[in-house]
Amino acid sequence: MELWQQQHKASITDPRQLAEKFGLDAEVIRRVAERYPLRITPHTLNLIQQLDDPLARQFFPDAVELTDDTTPFTDPLNEEALSPVPHLVHRYPCRVLLLVAGSCFSYCRFCTRKRKVGCREMAVSFGDVLKGIDYIAAHPEVNEVILSGGDPLTMSDRLLGDILARLRRIPHVEVIRIGSRVPVVLPQRITPALCELLQRQQFHGPLYFLTHFNHPSELTEETIDACQRLVRAGVPLVNQTVLLRDINDDAAVLHQLFHSLHRLCIRPYYLHQMDLTCGTGHFRTRLETGIKIMDQLRGPLSGLAVPTYIVDLPGGHGKVPVTPDYVQQLGAQARLRAADGTVVEYPNGV
Ligand SMILES: *Cc1c(COP(=O)(O)O)cnc(C)c1O
Ligand code: SF4
Repeated sequence: MELWQQQHKASITDPRQLAEKFGLDAEVIRRVAERYPLRITPHTLNLIQQLDDPLARQFFPDAVELTDDTTPFTDPLNEEALSPVPHLVHRYPCRVLLLVAGSCFSYCRFCTRKRKVGCREMAVSFGDVLKGIDYIAAHPEVNEVILSGGDPLTMSDRLLGDILARLRRIPHVEVIRIGSRVPVVLPQRITPALCELLQRQQFHGPLYFLTHFNHPSELTEETIDACQRLVRAGVPLVNQTVLLRDINDDAAVLHQLFHSLHRLCIRPYYLHQMDLTCGTGHFRTRLETGIKIMDQLRGPLSGLAVPTYIVDLPGGHGKVPVTPDYVQQLGAQARLRAADGTVVEYPNGV
């Protein structure tokens, strides 16, 4: 058994075990975990010393998940209606999400798909994946496939390699992305063999690895090593972060996170406003918070390290960027507000 498989096996899934270790109420955790599964890898658990730790808040079940009345949606992005075949979401003509895995190594309490990750209805069979691949083959307008889930890296290398090979045999599939939280929760999964597999992929067309870091404390030595293995294998790394109340809704924290990622050759891509998923209201910030943070990052932080702040609109209408209002007036004499607050006239009469 490989090291990552041992780690996976030793993960905490029993409410009593977690409750004992941290002096929590086992019955509360059990009730929450009955609805939304509990799983935390030893790697993640070892980083948590106390309950207000940013990692504890991301992964420890909380009673408020069951009483959230701020958000009526279980499927805020309307993914079920946008799924022409099970486990494939086709919202934008040129790209699809292929949900190749139903489970994760650790369950984030703020997950957009918390309605179904780790549940039986999310279990993805190989037959489902093949149907998704057939759908992609029959739709020449699809040039990009995003492997998601669940976490695609819960699959074996063999299965992942097989799916990638099948996708690469479709001439119109040009770009592939793999979204995974493995660098954060189980960096040992980024084995030399996996890196080799992803390196070989680059000969057939770009394959991006989409990481998901939310807080600087997630950048441990093992995690940094895992990312460096991917970088050395020539895999382009981009990151998405979810803006989380009392975890990273602070310009200094995000500055540190994005700068650290930038130094590790991981390009911050999106900062996501929390989706309106039922059971996650306690994590959501107001849009004003995100806008203010973006305003504080522009200028002090390398432009390469500034992500786009994105709201994925309820109802499946897609993602829109939300930015501080730099444009105060258009027309022949435009007025722009600089990041430092100065309003500057811009002769726009071409
Ligand atoms: C987010 C998302 C994508 C990818 O969008 P990009 O803006 O290209 O990163 C594609 N399809 C669906 C359904 C999505 O939710
Ligand atoms: S790793 Fe991704 S899919 Fe899995 S629980 Fe976390 S946010 Fe959801």
